[in-house]
Amino acid sequence: MSGLNRQSRFERGDDVVVMKFGGTSVEDSAAIRRLIGIVQSRQHHQPVVVVSALAKVTDQLLEAAHAAANGHLGSALATVRNIYVRHEALADSLVTGSAYGSLDRELRDEFRALESLLQDLQTSRHLDLALQDRLLGFGECFSSKLVSEALSEAGIKSAHVDARDCIFTDARHGQASPVWDSTNQRLQDTLSPLLQSARVPVLGGFIASTGDGVPTTLGRGGSDFSAAIVGAALGAARVEIWTDVDGVMTADPKLCADARVIRKMSFEEAAELAHFGAKVLHPATLAPAMRENIPVYVLNARRPEGEGTEISARARTGTSVSAITAKRNVVAVEVASSRGIDSALFNTVFGTFDQHACAVDVMGTSLGRISLLASSTAALPGIAADLQGVADVRWENHRALVCLVGENIRHQPDVARRVFAAVSDMDVRVLCQGASDRTISFLVEESKVEESVQRLHTLFFQKPELVRDWGGISSAFCQAG
Ligand code: ADP
Ligand code: ASP
Ligand code: MG
Repeated sequence: MSGLNRQSRFERGDDVVVMKFGGTSVEDSAAIRRLIGIVQSRQHHQPVVVVSALAKVTDQLLEAAHAAANGHLGSALATVRNIYVRHEALADSLVTGSAYGSLDRELRDEFRALESLLQDLQTSRHLDLALQDRLLGFGECFSSKLVSEALSEAGIKSAHVDARDCIFTDARHGQASPVWDSTNQRLQDTLSPLLQSARVPVLGGFIASTGDGVPTTLGRGGSDFSAAIVGAALGAARVEIWTDVDGVMTADPKLCADARVIRKMSFEEAAELAHFGAKVLHPATLAPAMRENIPVYVLNARRPEGEGTEISARARTGTSVSAITAKRNVVAVEVASSRGIDSALFNTVFGTFDQHACAVDVMGTSLGRISLLASSTAALPGIAADLQGVADVRWENHRALVCLVGENIRHQPDVARRVFAAVSDMDVRVLCQGASDRTISFLVEESKVEESVQRLHTLFFQKPELVRDWGGISSAFCQAG
């Protein structure tokens, strides 16, 4: 992008705030009314709204797709019928008059299209990722139309924008990546005129399309990423992720009741946390924000007055643990070769994983052994067969990766020692402290996730004197009293 383009884009986007509302923040009419209040509170800026599907709808669509592909059309249609009834009831409670009439017609048409896709699927019995993307996308199409009309009804001039006409990706269905230039251009061309005419654009998150119009998705939880993509294209002043917790916390509050809000985090720390399983942010969200230096705020839609978490490029000092996270459903893979590990073996091993489209994280290497993490066992028998005679491939599933994140924690030798001491009675495998300055991670059996996260949380967050010194966690402590 040329300097001139960039400058004019920033002038336009200077006051833009992109607000993303997750599934629970649009789950029922009370939630959508709260959303309306929150958007109203930002009306003196230029809000752009990105919404997820209503809570649970994406899972239900997936369930319906599998049911139809397995020949259970009745069950698939019943699931879709329930989704329709839920949207229809919301339309009825939030929108009136002729606007209700046309929204109702649109919803009916969309549901008919969905039903007919499921009927075809029952005949073909073939659910591939491209068709799955098309089916799952209905959730965000419905929710964004509904929210756009609900905002208009409340007196906020809004405009529904189909994200599939603006966000372009490669064809990696199920987990597509944006094609940045065309996406940025189209988002600017579409959204800027709406903002200039004081309208609030409303887009569905998660959904996109290839350049030739085939629907794709950005991966589960991808609406956060959509918001960051829109924010980066417009040079927004801030991106707000409105969700069901008070901000990014020292641990998942569902795992650890003592978890506290982290007031401020660096982009890098938050990105590590998301990469290592903290569901509160889709792992790809922070890259575009970081590139354009746009602060991201994580806020609670049920408690909009809270300060939430600010994620930005602010300078950091201090070295300590800022959060503990866990990634479940991890497969620990070991590749062993009696001939030792050299670059030729590396090439062969990774080439083979690549051919089988099996994405892996490298945990570490030792004499004659490479330790890897995969998210599924599906491709591993084929990979083991292809590598026969070169290396032995073994794996164990039902593992979880527990990760401590914090600025420079790698340079605090004491942290690893204390972690090991805290979980010394558990079957801990492959401690990894080295790929990044900000993480220390290790594998445990999946059944031990809760216990290990709780023990580490007690160890690193219970005593105020252990709290980091730069205002992040310490202010959370003050707030928590
Ligand atoms: P949304 O539907 O708004 O996108 P998600 O369910 O995707 O919400 O993400 C919010 C959830 O993330 C929270 O309810 C919480 O259980 C989970 N979570 C995991 N790790 C963390 C963490 N470190 N801080 C806050 N929430 C977390
Ligand atoms: N609705 C999608 C999902 O459930 C995307 C999102 O919620 O961010 O994965
Ligand atoms: Mg989410």
